[in-house]
Amino acid sequence: MVEKKPAFPLSKARVQELIRTYPTPWHIYDERAIRENARALYKAFSWVKGFKNHFAVKALPNPFILKVLKEEGMGTDCSSLPELLLSERVGIAGEDVMFTSNDTPPEEFMKARQLGAVINLDDITHIDALERSAGIPELVCFRYNPGALKQGNAIIGKPEEAKYGLTREQLLEAYKIVRQKGAKRFGLHTMVASNELNPDYFVETARILFELVVEIHETCGARIELVNLGGGIGIPYKPEQVPVDLERVSRGVKAEYEGIVVKAGLDPLRIVLESGRMVTGPYGWLVTTVRHIKRTYRDYVGVDACMANLMRPGMYGAYHHHTVLGKEDAPLVHEYDVTGSLCENNDKFAIGRMLPEVEVGDIIAIHDTGAHGHAMGFNYNGKLRSAELLLRPDGSIVRIRRAETPDDYFATLDFGALERFQ
Ligand SMILES: *Cc1c(COP(=O)(O)O)cnc(C)c1O
Repeated sequence: MVEKKPAFPLSKARVQELIRTYPTPWHIYDERAIRENARALYKAFSWVKGFKNHFAVKALPNPFILKVLKEEGMGTDCSSLPELLLSERVGIAGEDVMFTSNDTPPEEFMKARQLGAVINLDDITHIDALERSAGIPELVCFRYNPGALKQGNAIIGKPEEAKYGLTREQLLEAYKIVRQKGAKRFGLHTMVASNELNPDYFVETARILFELVVEIHETCGARIELVNLGGGIGIPYKPEQVPVDLERVSRGVKAEYEGIVVKAGLDPLRIVLESGRMVTGPYGWLVTTVRHIKRTYRDYVGVDACMANLMRPGMYGAYHHHTVLGKEDAPLVHEYDVTGSLCENNDKFAIGRMLPEVEVGDIIAIHDTGAHGHAMGFNYNGKLRSAELLLRPDGSIVRIRRAETPDDYFATLDFGALERFQ
């Protein structure tokens, strides 16, 4: 089981030292903790033959991280051409890659096919799109949208309002079609929640899919060999929340597997996940320095990071815990809004947060930025994406991505053409 919210792994003195080489803001990830967490996940599902987590590349698309996760036995879950290329660059290919895309362009089907990825179709009409662009592979997977069968959650919303996946009726038809077109191996996928902390939710998802595996076998004769339970395992962003008990999820899934799949004589079946957030999320921090303290109708801590470095609070009102380095044990005596410099009033990392008395020059570690953190960065307002650092198990630190510079911001512009432009 994952421990409670991991403490920021570096001392203030070490961070001050690092800042001389790498000015803030930057994200830092803890390799040892990520590896231990990956091992705990694999241990929990060790009863599954061929269990694999296909790390959702979009959560932390850095090749150094992917290389670490590859060493821990993970594959990738990609949904765009650049993600497929990134996976290829770290040597993750073949069926270690799940390609779960939507509204997919033909060149992405072609690249996925060339890599030998498991292609997970999002719609019944994509069968034709795939056939035209890349041909029908031996193994085809479909994404199921259970509609009203399954309750939604805050980030993805209600399944029946989500754009993803096929209805049950379409799914039963789809396997027949791809069988006629030559597919011999079949997978089934769903992903209906994001950042879900209730372990039973995942057990219920497994039950729905296992029942469908039986139904698909009975009605279309297609024997599903791969069930992908999706990602969406949540992490405790708030200190009072508890991590998902993976052992409990695994036990629950096993009971459903035995009661449904084994009973129907459809064992063995490979169960995989495509979790991103729970793999790296708690083991990353955005480190930022306090630039200004402003007192108007509220008290503001202005930091050198902004929502271009971490969009979740601005986008979802998400909570990210803050630690003021060196003041870990100081009493929380002052209510602040912690803001960035973007010209958008939702550029706030925390609103009405009780913190120790903060001064200009203090360093704040914003927790749980190891997934959907740097990755969601953008350049609006001329904001540049930060560097990413990795804390190695031996205590050394490597920079795994440099910070952007204005030259990166201008890289897609042709100033020569501007000179000639009248
Ligand atoms: C985003 C996404 C994931 C990963 O979600 P996490 O919340 O990071 O686990 C997995 N699969 C698909 C299809 C996704 O879109």
